[in-house]
Amino acid sequence: MGLLVARTRPELQAALDPAREACRRIGLVPTMGALHAGHDALIGRTRTMSDVSVVSIFVNPTQFGADEDFGVYPRSFQADLDRCAAEGVDLVFAPDVATMYPDGAGGVSVEPGPLGGVFEGVTRPTHFRGVLTVVAKLLHLVAPDVAAFGEKDYQQLVLVRQMVNSLQFDVEVLGVPIVRQADGLALSSRNSFLDDEDRRHALMLSRALTAGIDAAPRGVDAVLAAARDVLASAAGAVDYVALTDPYLGEPRLGQEARLLVAARVSTVRLIDNTSLRLGLPAGASSGEVVGP
Ligand code: AMP
Repeated sequence: MGLLVARTRPELQAALDPAREACRRIGLVPTMGALHAGHDALIGRTRTMSDVSVVSIFVNPTQFGADEDFGVYPRSFQADLDRCAAEGVDLVFAPDVATMYPDGAGGVSVEPGPLGGVFEGVTRPTHFRGVLTVVAKLLHLVAPDVAAFGEKDYQQLVLVRQMVNSLQFDVEVLGVPIVRQADGLALSSRNSFLDDEDRRHALMLSRALTAGIDAAPRGVDAVLAAARDVLASAAGAVDYVALTDPYLGEPRLGQEARLLVAARVSTVRLIDNTSLRLGLPAGASSGEVVGP
């Protein structure tokens, strides 16, 4: 089947009904459009796990703070449709705000819990409420068997998994590794806001992560210091550098960990992260908890 576009709930259900009747597996990739190769990776991953591939394109107002870039967020709908067609997507769901928020701003929302208030949540206190609310609606409307989210937004991925678990959505969440440009910059729709000089400065994020990986055999403090050193030597305002376990808890020596960074380059706020394996100090046993 060629690419279908649904704008409303009835159009979405009409497009999905045949797939449901035939018990075909549905895969969903929620996006805000301005699609790039990072989104392609999510689409490719869901296509291997489903029969019908759905991409949602919706710039969700509730996940932007009042002083954030909702109004200027890049929008390229026709190019997005062409990209989806080329990637073998079956259905694009592109609702308007009234379709997604029929009761306006005052409706019921999803409370993210404590993990919504750390890292990104410090600078963006209402962000994850908006994200989880719209993801819950999309999961409810599309009812996919699998849904893909990028590790690029790592805290979002952890929170989506937690919501699916807490609210008992019957969907398998796929986490997809970050797609980067050759020089290390993580692909992001917001990269289009960067001029050449900003883009050079933006490389400090992935370089900080690489420095952290190199320092990982020496433990938590070494990782944080190495990442902070790189960021301190570059232009841009660092928001946070954090080292956690894969679930955003305390990191453990000898275990997989996540190094997360956020910084502002000119007016653009960028985030990046990587997994790494923390070394064991001489004489320590695997699984030791680090922290106060
Ligand atoms: P967005 O359109 O920016 O809201 O992103 C939609 C989905 O694509 C989210 O799950 C993101 O984490 C994911 N994504 C964005 N950029 C990348 C990237 N460079 N690599 C992998 N996934 C990404």
